[in-house]
Amino acid sequence: MKFPEFKDYYQQLISTSSISSTDPSWDEGNAEVIHKLAQWCEDLGCEVEIEEIEKGKLNLLAKLGSGEGGLLLAGHTDTVPYDQGRWNYEPHALTETNDRFYGLGTADMKGFFAFILEAIKNINWKDQSKPLYILATCDEETTMLGARHFASNTQIQPDYCIIGEPTSLKPIRGHKGHVANAVRVTGKSGHSSDPAHGVNALEIMNEIMFALMNLKNKLVKEYHNPGFSIPYPTLNLGHIHGGDSPNRICGCCELHYDVRPLPGISLDGLDNMLRDALTEVEAKWPGRIDITPLHEPIPGYECSADSPIVTSTAEICGQEVETVNYCTEAPFLQDLCPTLVLGPGSIEQAHQPDEFLAFSFIDPTISVLSKLMYKHCFEVK
Ligand SMILES: [Zn+2]
Repeated sequence: MKFPEFKDYYQQLISTSSISSTDPSWDEGNAEVIHKLAQWCEDLGCEVEIEEIEKGKLNLLAKLGSGEGGLLLAGHTDTVPYDQGRWNYEPHALTETNDRFYGLGTADMKGFFAFILEAIKNINWKDQSKPLYILATCDEETTMLGARHFASNTQIQPDYCIIGEPTSLKPIRGHKGHVANAVRVTGKSGHSSDPAHGVNALEIMNEIMFALMNLKNKLVKEYHNPGFSIPYPTLNLGHIHGGDSPNRICGCCELHYDVRPLPGISLDGLDNMLRDALTEVEAKWPGRIDITPLHEPIPGYECSADSPIVTSTAEICGQEVETVNYCTEAPFLQDLCPTLVLGPGSIEQAHQPDEFLAFSFIDPTISVLSKLMYKHCFEVK
């Protein structure tokens, strides 16, 4: 059988749009990409399962070989929307120029599947002793629906997992989580000349912000992980809007803040801390304060520095293992097995106009993936 060339895989992945967005006018689903991947994986001898989690939102799991353990290579098939008018190249086509592939998803991260397929083609699988799995998820850029669903429902038990997000081919073993909430204060507006005629939402918000700043300092004092460049959880007040006029008592005010928890801080524990911080203000102003999450919280994640996957992958890549500040699907896939994040392209280009993958990543990535496949799917001779 004649398989597509590496560039054909890449070109088809990029030209098949699969944007996910919380804005329904952008949201497309990923069915077409998943069906293409399914066909290619089957042609290479994989067993393929496709699961539709929500309408038009699919996960694919491909399995090459049989046996226990093995290696899971994972990635998401959705992309973010693109800034119309700010791209110099067509986002939904593969443009080859300046020794780069340009296009939406070239780095983050549909291109990773072309690398996996190419590495599989280059290996003689005759003496394979453990399975290779490929997981392609949906909705990473919005809710992480695909990875959450997969991690809580799958029966597979691989030894290790690698997620091919663009890390410039440096192995990553941890990142912080992300929690973002809106706090809305409903006061009562009135003429500013008589404060007794209203309840000032801005004044209540001032008490809330004071309480959150105390929590921010407490987080700095009480948590420390030297594996991170910012070794404590951060709390940032990022957006506020309230009131309309200096001569009116402010009737409504909304604040958005985020927290980036270190790995090991549970989402429930953090939620309790955030609620505890505001209990006093809430008791003073009953029924006037509403807290709602701005997105599904994502926990922090860490693979122990002395896990065998950390040392062996560092050796294969010839790079130290690091931690980063962006979020991935790793906290969910880590529930199955020790997980690293490692892939071609740079996070600098992710979510940017003229996203690209530099050609200098092509040979090293195929080489690293082949070595990982040999290491984890074949008996050492
Ligand atoms: Zn990504």
